[in-house]
Amino acid sequence: MPRTSTPAATRLSDADEVWRLLAGQVRPLPAEEIPVAEAHGRRLAEDALCTFDFPPFDRAVMDGFAVRSADFNQGHARLRMIDLVRAGGPRGGPLAPGHCARINTGAPLPPGADAVVMVERATEADSEFVELRDSATIGANIDRTGAILHRGAMVVPRGTRGTGGALAALASAGVTRVQAYRQPRVTLLTTGDELIDAGAPLGEGQIYDSNSMLLSAEIQQTGATLLQVGRCPDDQSALDAALRSGLAVDVLIVVGGMSRGTHDLVPRTLQELGVRWVVEGLNLKPGKPTRIGRAPAGAWVLGLPGNPVSAAVCFTLFGRPLLSGLSGGPCEAPPTLCASLTSPMPANGPRPMYQPARWSADSEGRLRAEPLTWRGSGDPFGLALGTALIARDANAQAAAAGDAVNLILIGGL
Ligand code: AMP
Ligand code: MG
Repeated sequence: MPRTSTPAATRLSDADEVWRLLAGQVRPLPAEEIPVAEAHGRRLAEDALCTFDFPPFDRAVMDGFAVRSADFNQGHARLRMIDLVRAGGPRGGPLAPGHCARINTGAPLPPGADAVVMVERATEADSEFVELRDSATIGANIDRTGAILHRGAMVVPRGTRGTGGALAALASAGVTRVQAYRQPRVTLLTTGDELIDAGAPLGEGQIYDSNSMLLSAEIQQTGATLLQVGRCPDDQSALDAALRSGLAVDVLIVVGGMSRGTHDLVPRTLQELGVRWVVEGLNLKPGKPTRIGRAPAGAWVLGLPGNPVSAAVCFTLFGRPLLSGLSGGPCEAPPTLCASLTSPMPANGPRPMYQPARWSADSEGRLRAEPLTWRGSGDPFGLALGTALIARDANAQAAAAGDAVNLILIGGL
């Protein structure tokens, strides 16, 4: 049976306050050593340093001819060609005066050569001689040993995300294993007697559980490990069991039943399991019932309202920074960009508002924000095209097409 006493009114937190609180309290999970090939999407827990001088040999950076600059006179030389030097092959040479070696990009420079003339400046007179029109300054088109990075120099600093570029830099530097922060393990639990799986025949009063789709996708997109997706009716003993087991992870994201209705049992049940709330409602729209708390064993709890737009908006605003901070990334307000509206917006009410929107660029490269049709927080369909949120201040005046608005990109920059 639900317990029906009304919980005491709680103070609503401003978004800025929540971001400050998260920044102050969220710490990265412990690090572990992993192969670089598995570090995609992970955050490095230590600086990675170059293990040798890079490049490890003097090399050509153009296809052309390795030459001795002293052989050039007034931008010209006629030289005898010796062997081709290939990338991955031996250096060949040494180059005697009056000689040059055909060379490919990435090939080691033969001893005696001190410049490379690009192939576009060459005319082969016959199979023996080549005419080169170039000033051939010393060092031209050559990377000297260690010119790019010295042994011990920083390749990527701690906190860097394992993008393709970062992993390529590590591989180039001879780094094979790295310390990386562990990704948060997340349990997602949707709650509500009315929820059923999409596609099942709808009984009276039932709707399809769309939030488990929405949030599973969003959680996994952050790189977090989604351990379990569950659904629970508004029933005290079922909730007790589901929430208790849901807390045995790094983050429990629970959706629905967070408000003050008679069957909104989630906040009190979690409190009875020892969760201390640090946020007990938000001064913004949509998503007022959102809560953030901490379980005794350390799990973070993000409680989102069941309305799909509220859940989506509050996950973007607060769920993403929380998961990012735990995985060693930034734990802060999402960046706000300035965009021009494509259509008017009415005056805003007394709470700051985040309106689903779609971003695009105009022909001059300026950012545009198109507010999406939104028939209230219970309308999941506007979200289908959503790629951004328009952030509006409390009591903002009506805005016209072309006016500047603040825009947050869903999924970050
Ligand atoms: P609640 O936050 O539980 O009061 O739910 C608010 C509204 O969101 C109600 O209309 C619910 O039916 C709806 N809702 C709750 N959970 C979900 C869900 N997982 N998927 C779709 N709609 C939901
Ligand atoms: Mg409910």
